Amino acid sequence: MNSVTPQLEILDTDRAERYRDLVGAAVAHTADRFAAVTTPTTDTPAATLRARVESIDLDAPLHSAEAAVDEVDGLFSAEAVWFHHPASLAHLNCPVALPAVAAEAVLAAVNPSVDTWDQSRIGTEIERRVVRWATETIGFADGDGVFTSGGSQSNLHALLLARQAATLRGPASGRRGRPSLDDLVVFATASSHFSVRKSAMVLGLPEHAVVDVATDAAGRMRPDALAHAIADARREGRTPMAVIATAGTTDRGCIDPLEPIADVCDLEGAWLHVDAAYGCGLLVSPTRRHLLDGVERARSVTADFHKSFFQPVSSSALLVRVPEDLGLAAWHADYLNPEDAEEPNQVDKSLQTTRRLDALKLWASLRASGAEAIGRAFDTVIDVAGRVHEHVRRHPELVLVAPTDLSTVLFRWQPDDVSDDDADALVAPLRAALLAEGRVLIAKTVIDGRPCNKLTLLNPGATEDQVVAALGHVAATARRLHVERQRSARHATETTGARR
Ligand SMILES: *Cc1c(COP(=O)(O)O)cnc(C)c1O
Repeated sequence: MNSVTPQLEILDTDRAERYRDLVGAAVAHTADRFAAVTTPTTDTPAATLRARVESIDLDAPLHSAEAAVDEVDGLFSAEAVWFHHPASLAHLNCPVALPAVAAEAVLAAVNPSVDTWDQSRIGTEIERRVVRWATETIGFADGDGVFTSGGSQSNLHALLLARQAATLRGPASGRRGRPSLDDLVVFATASSHFSVRKSAMVLGLPEHAVVDVATDAAGRMRPDALAHAIADARREGRTPMAVIATAGTTDRGCIDPLEPIADVCDLEGAWLHVDAAYGCGLLVSPTRRHLLDGVERARSVTADFHKSFFQPVSSSALLVRVPEDLGLAAWHADYLNPEDAEEPNQVDKSLQTTRRLDALKLWASLRASGAEAIGRAFDTVIDVAGRVHEHVRRHPELVLVAPTDLSTVLFRWQPDDVSDDDADALVAPLRAALLAEGRVLIAKTVIDGRPCNKLTLLNPGATEDQVVAALGHVAATARRLHVERQRSARHATETTGARR
């Protein structure tokens, strides 16, 4: 055999030192990147990024793990988007807690899967303990739950359980028997996460199954409108399957009024799901925990630790008030988790089979600094967002589009002499121009039918001054684009005029 026959280097007893060296090299590269970051990303054109990736022949290996790690650094890390940069303001992607990053490195090497007890014994215990910590923090007397890949999956899982509860058990009256999928109604709002509608589609519900309940001016669900919507559905012979209250809507960062919504759900016997993917950090906030009052009355809760708990992706959980509810979606296989198994197999509770021990990262964070430190970090983000709202309100060229309970800033560049149409037309090009430049990253969305730009603050290290400076660059870029667009519009009119 040829001595350069490629070797697959498996991490094993013999390669403990190789592991130390190779991963050490990767960490050293990444540490150098962190130390040198000056912009949230680069200005490398999209076509160049694609060409670089395309130019690599995946069937022509480098025959060296070191070379592959170097290539990852030069190809990927050199062009990454950095969420710890104070001008990284586009999405709900957070900078990460260091102990969690260390735990992630452990997970990558040990490669546990928390599906069956025999693959993860201590991991299973750790996940169950972290879940219990989370349910106690919510205020469930005797809850349960399971880690998932993200809020979208947590919401899908919750809606599956609600669908099973509505269709398997049937209505208490049982007069017309079990409702069909066509009869089910999910009550949400226009501000609910898109995964609610997507989950309904996955679960085989018809499009009309998701009903948008009316909201107040800030986009929060109106409990009175919810009561009416449920009454209307019942009158039509339909069955309420779930009510989705959002604790931190993705665009507005607003929290639906949980207590009055829970009152309606209790009265109607409706499954209340609280989507706290974004707002879950409030659970550990020393000053704002009251914003989640009523969350303990939910039947199920989505928490994205990879948002407001500063955990690396992925780290989310579906948490339920009634442990037996998880059994609504249980399935058994002889080789994996037979029904008579005495061992606690987490796969009984999950939609996934092979599954990461993401709980270890939150465990490490809790052990390193405690929950309150996480809550204080989220508080800092919300405090800064409040001051940025004030700044935008006073800014001569920016218009604040909506208030927030958390940390988004919805705004439009629109000085007094700029029309609504011109301002709206600038929203998308502004975001694209900033992304191409890589110095300040912002998002765009549509609020009440009009486009606007959006900042999502999620970095406790970003100061008010830094965010204000980033906004200054946003406003200057908007003005420059506006002037350019006016000029080219004039030019177009003149050339058509000359041709005439
Ligand atoms: C982000 C978000 C989700 C989806 O979470 P992923 O982890 O991205 O799948 C669901 N609901 C809300 C309110 C969110 O903000």
